[in-house]
Amino acid sequence: MVKSNKVAELINKRHKIDIEIEDIQKECPHSNISVKSVRERLDSTTMVIRYICDECYLIVGIPNNDKLQKFLKQ
Ligand SMILES: [Zn+2]
Repeated sequence: MVKSNKVAELINKRHKIDIEIEDIQKECPHSNISVKSVRERLDSTTMVIRYICDECYLIVGIPNNDKLQKFLKQ
């Protein structure tokens, strides 16, 4: 019982964190973005290259082929 209560507590906490992150991302002007390699989805191990906001870590776009090649050459 103690264990499942702990899990419920953690899920609840994670949900609150998700909402908090969403709020920050909604209000962020995404003024500083960089090309980064990120996981395609949270439950995925596939890495993809995206434009990520430096402030809120939201995926704001997909780099074109030119930018992609530049990033891969770094
Ligand atoms: Zn942002």
